[in-house]
Amino acid sequence: MIDTKKRIVVLLGPPGAGKGTQAAYIKEKFHIPHISTGEILRDNIDKGTPLGIEAHKFMHKGDLVPDDLIIEMVKDRVRQPDCAEGALFDGFPRNEEQSEMFFDMEYVSTNAKVCAILIDIPDEEVINRLSNRRYCPSCKSIYNLIYKVPKNKDGDSYLCDNCGSELVIRDDDKVETIKNRLKVFHDTAEPLIAYFTKKNVLHIVDGITSLEEVFKQIVNILE
Ligand SMILES: [Zn+2]
Repeated sequence: MIDTKKRIVVLLGPPGAGKGTQAAYIKEKFHIPHISTGEILRDNIDKGTPLGIEAHKFMHKGDLVPDDLIIEMVKDRVRQPDCAEGALFDGFPRNEEQSEMFFDMEYVSTNAKVCAILIDIPDEEVINRLSNRRYCPSCKSIYNLIYKVPKNKDGDSYLCDNCGSELVIRDDDKVETIKNRLKVFHDTAEPLIAYFTKKNVLHIVDGITSLEEVFKQIVNILE
């Protein structure tokens, strides 16, 4: 039997959960494009489409682009041939209104296997992972004092393996910033998790393990 169903994946997870890496793995294995609303927005604005021109008016005033405009752009995007076998969404839907519009889309409601996948990692682990990141301001290499430890130190400072520069902590990886990012994540994700649970499409994978192990759990869900 040939499975003709499209795979429609919504990926959720806190910062530091490795969503970008999992998205790349999913894209490669299941031949579905990774669609982010930021990208679609930029693309519509760059090409000067009517939707892009409309969206730009809101962004220009510093306002959020309304949900119905976002949905129209998503509908346009999934008409492209690369979405024939499905699509992976990241950052969309971002609220209950968008979720309702999402499930009303013909692309989603017709012959599709819809999976919202939450990569679950406790806050302390997110803080632990991200606050141990170190960054080379010269060659942009990224290290982690747990997973990818730089070989050399000068006093208390770690040095870049590549170019010997002193490594720094980026603002994004400071504990206070991480806590703020986690708050934003929880505020956004919790209503979505409740909605996807109600729709019976939520899957939770254990994120406190290697990228490969996380991907195995995702493959089990999608196959
Ligand atoms: Zn360097």
